[in-house]
Amino acid sequence: MSQAVRVTVWNENLHETMFEEIRAIYPEGIHGCIAGFLKDAGYDVKTATLQEAEHGLTQDVLERTDVLIWWGHMAHHKVEDAVVDRVHQRVLEGMGLIVLHSGHASKIMRKLCGTSSELLRWREAGEKEILWVVDPAHPIAEGLKDRIELSHEEMYGETFIIPKPDDIVFISWFEGGEVFRSGVTYTRGRGKVFYFRPGHESFPTYFNKDVQHVIVNAVRWAAPRAMPQVTLGEIKEPIMPLANPTHNVIAGLHEKID
Ligand code: ZN
Repeated sequence: MSQAVRVTVWNENLHETMFEEIRAIYPEGIHGCIAGFLKDAGYDVKTATLQEAEHGLTQDVLERTDVLIWWGHMAHHKVEDAVVDRVHQRVLEGMGLIVLHSGHASKIMRKLCGTSSELLRWREAGEKEILWVVDPAHPIAEGLKDRIELSHEEMYGETFIIPKPDDIVFISWFEGGEVFRSGVTYTRGRGKVFYFRPGHESFPTYFNKDVQHVIVNAVRWAAPRAMPQVTLGEIKEPIMPLANPTHNVIAGLHEKID
């Protein structure tokens, strides 16, 4: 049996510690809630927070992480650049990254996108959101119906200043009329990246079964796969000499130029 995918759930863990009304929604923290349903799905899950040494994301932790999940909002600027560089390098090497909700403005998202990743409209009015599945064949959408309905969420509206995604899996509609690319994927180096919009801290969004289903699917999708081994300096098939010796690399092109 193959080993379980190793997931690290990272959270800045500030709203839950600063505000009682948020702690009432997420008594174990947002990271605790997400780690809980990912463990139930069979993943090997650990958590890390901003407050820990090196934000809990040491080289050793990242090397033992297949997929990193990122939730941050008010303290993006407090994340050390050295840690962001380390996460970035691991994504290039093949670690999956799932950026949630206000993580759109995190240092790691901006570095991977090469854009500001700002959104030009937002509103906190507890309005209805419908996430339409616009790529039903995508592995992240597997097992969903045609939409996810959230009765209360914060609104994020286009324009979202991101590079053109590899895939757009979800587009949100909000009660106030705005739309948003709510589920987008990128490939950076060998790593797969998924941004997923829902998850404002003052609503119990991560307890929603459809939202959990998306994140469970996304971990499976983003997990690194065995890559082809590249062997340098080994020619597998004989190369026939060209008719014109001037262009004959086997006869020694460099000597001819010299
Ligand atoms: Zn929010």
